Amino acid sequence: MKSQDIRKKFIAFFESKQHQAVPSAPMVLKNDPTLMFVNAGMVPFKEFFLGQKKIVNSRVTDSQKCLRVSGKHNDLEEVGIDTYHHTLFEMLGNWSFGDYFKEEAIAWSWELLTEVFKVDKDILYVTIFEGDKGEGLERDHEAYDIWKKYIAEDRILLGNKKDNFWEMGAQGPCGPCSEIHVDIRSAEEKAKTHGAELVNMDHPQVVEIWNLVFMQFNRLADGSLEDLPNQHIDTGMGFERLCMVLQGVQSNYDTDVFTPLIGALEAKTGVTYGASEEIDIALRVISDHVRAVAFAIADGQLPSSTGAGYVIRRILRRAIRYGFTFLNQKEAFIYQLVTVLSDQMGSYFPEITAQKQLVMNVIKEEETSFLKTLGQGLGLLDQVIAQTKGKEVSGEKAFELYDTFGFPIDLTALILSEKGYTLNESDFTTALEQQKNRSRAAAEMDMEDWVVLKEDPEQEFIGYDYLETNVKITRYRKVTSKKQGTLYQLVFNLTPFYPEGGGQVGDRGFLESSNGDVLHLIDTKKENNLVMHIAKDLPKNITDTFKAVVDEKHRALSNNNHSATHLLHLALRTVLGTHVEQKGSLVNSKYLRFDFSHFSKVTPEEIQKIEAFVNARIQEKLELQEFRNIPMQEALDKGAMALFGEKYGDTVRLIQFGNSKELCGGTHVSNTGNIWHLKITSESAVAAGVRRIEAITGEVAKDFFTQQDKALTEVKQTLKNTKDPIKAIVNLQDENAALKKEIEVLLKEKAKNIKGNLKANIETIGGVNFLATRIDMNAGAIKDIAHELGGEVENLFFFAGAENEGKATLTSYIAKNLVEEKGYDAGKIVRELGKYIQGGGGGQKFFATAGGKHPSGLSEAIAKVKDYL
Ligand code: ATP
Ligand code: MG
Repeated sequence: MKSQDIRKKFIAFFESKQHQAVPSAPMVLKNDPTLMFVNAGMVPFKEFFLGQKKIVNSRVTDSQKCLRVSGKHNDLEEVGIDTYHHTLFEMLGNWSFGDYFKEEAIAWSWELLTEVFKVDKDILYVTIFEGDKGEGLERDHEAYDIWKKYIAEDRILLGNKKDNFWEMGAQGPCGPCSEIHVDIRSAEEKAKTHGAELVNMDHPQVVEIWNLVFMQFNRLADGSLEDLPNQHIDTGMGFERLCMVLQGVQSNYDTDVFTPLIGALEAKTGVTYGASEEIDIALRVISDHVRAVAFAIADGQLPSSTGAGYVIRRILRRAIRYGFTFLNQKEAFIYQLVTVLSDQMGSYFPEITAQKQLVMNVIKEEETSFLKTLGQGLGLLDQVIAQTKGKEVSGEKAFELYDTFGFPIDLTALILSEKGYTLNESDFTTALEQQKNRSRAAAEMDMEDWVVLKEDPEQEFIGYDYLETNVKITRYRKVTSKKQGTLYQLVFNLTPFYPEGGGQVGDRGFLESSNGDVLHLIDTKKENNLVMHIAKDLPKNITDTFKAVVDEKHRALSNNNHSATHLLHLALRTVLGTHVEQKGSLVNSKYLRFDFSHFSKVTPEEIQKIEAFVNARIQEKLELQEFRNIPMQEALDKGAMALFGEKYGDTVRLIQFGNSKELCGGTHVSNTGNIWHLKITSESAVAAGVRRIEAITGEVAKDFFTQQDKALTEVKQTLKNTKDPIKAIVNLQDENAALKKEIEVLLKEKAKNIKGNLKANIETIGGVNFLATRIDMNAGAIKDIAHELGGEVENLFFFAGAENEGKATLTSYIAKNLVEEKGYDAGKIVRELGKYIQGGGGGQKFFATAGGKHPSGLSEAIAKVKDYL
């Protein structure tokens, strides 16, 4: 069965059990402080398990893109070495939000595998949670008894907390789980070792394919467990592993998910998969990593030097480095695989096809620049080797290469061993650990559990219509970090505060208690659907009714910039073309920033057109038209730009100003006239094919123009109140150039005169033309004079002392033939005479200089020169 059909059948099976099929959520998480990427199918549904979002449909099925390269789930180092862990993989899932539980979950997994997919029962094992004394948890007898109905009891194995108690992270929803494993070894192998002994033992052909998680607890900050309000089912089946089983192969890389990618790599590099372990690993690494990187970019995460962007960059670099070392690829090539990927996966994941060109450009540029780094690194490594005494290269030096140039440590070690050197790896590890500890200490955050004052499953956001209202605090918690000290996060039963999101900063404002006490709210953020208001303290009477008031000015300025961003987007698509797509944005009360796909610099003429377009829309005073809580399809029908990245359960909000129609959750002006004016302040590149525009509006633009005007007035005044400052400046520039030329001519004449005078003072002593004198000019000019004199006067022995800007210099010039015949040494002379000016210097035997800080010693130095003759 083809992989495409396997995915379809899975989804169709659960649709037949009344599940709603939903698309994969984006893999990149934008507003989650606890996680960078979706690392399991349950992540997009967290809020449902926590009871923080209203359930629309209690049964859902999907195939979710997951990435396990950082944090609690990190498989990166295994990937490519083994044959069944990937960075990006698809997790097939069926979900029950407070609906069915263990009975159905187990029955349906069995039905799907053995009846629909016809997997041989004799290759299956299942595990159940054996219980854990420390946690006070009993064995999962219930799951055992259900499994007994389907599978022989000797195939039901007990598993410990590590394998059979699933947790998303250090905190959050969790529960016991039951895994399904396959044993796809040959009959011969099976005869040697019993499959049951190999379950959960990292055997490449006895692997877990499906995990059924019975969500029933929430792990608190102090490590204890509390019951969730409802019981849920969360299952995750590795799509690529399922394909391996159903296609009768022994490795995920032999399924049709990977063979097209590996085939393309073979064709490109001329190697054959299966020829050698080293090459095989490289092919697996690259075919795996290109998927992760391509989808991350398509989901909006560009490679960069910090945070999630850096994780993506590191994955790509790992692939490049394998290609460089083992496939001998010295030029960008990985980006070409995106075409194969898009052909193969585009039907289920349309984002990869829609963004193909951008993804290719970004990968290609990253490859090119890292290959350059590798080249430079090789050069630096040669230098390090040259400076190394003995055969062991310092771990700190290797760390420097790694840290500053991104030069991979395994590559350093490999090259060193090829050259007969070893690397002090423990020093390297120490340096790495020290750096990690430094950044960990800086980022460390201590988050206490929520103190719940009032259960409130649905907090209402009223900030589109109101800027103040009476509220009750429903929960709060204390968060302490090095960076920000102690802060409190407060949740209200309803709120007018806009939480940071969609590029727009959070609102600030204050809480006023019934007796008039005021508590400032410095920021607003959102986590798992909860709007959290951030304060430095708690209010005195926490159960009081408070007036919550948004800072109106801050909000209004942000509104200006957000609405202007929409107009800017439309302007860019109108002026530059419809290839322009938003790649990121930032909106605060001071300015706006907009990143978009476009392949060349935006010219000054285009910038002017873009500004003019936006300002015309501002002058038209377009009314805001807002459509709240409408289904996606309706928004599309109204002409909203199709976006990837909406999550299941979200209805959308459409914001329209004239022809600008965008899906957006942010806050906006009621009329574009409020924006007053848009002024673009900069245009630059962010990555290959991604440009960035920064702009200001409203009051900030007014201030900007006022400042500009003031500066211009001052310029005019300085230019004697000219009416035409540009002409005046051009005149000044011309005049300045003419003066410079004149000075040059004068200086040349002066030097000629000096030379004439000097020549007249030369003494001839024993065949040597000797001159020791004082010339107060700069060192460069004296050098010129010395060399010119030397060209005109033979057998010259010239010495000059000079004072220039409070410092003393000595210059000694001796004709080369004198140096040879008489053994004179200009370097020695200036070194020795340097003591008179409290300085030192040196140079060659025929020319040398010294500098010092004691000009009053010059005459003594000059007087001593004759002694050297
Ligand atoms: P393993 O022990 O094999 O690493 P896991 O216990 O980490 O698996 P879960 O977190 O339970 O796996 O994820 C559910 C399913 O997702 C697994 O049964 C497996 O089929 C699949 N899976 C997990 N990690 C990966 C990965 N890195 N690459 C491909 N599939 C994976
Ligand atoms: Mg794992």
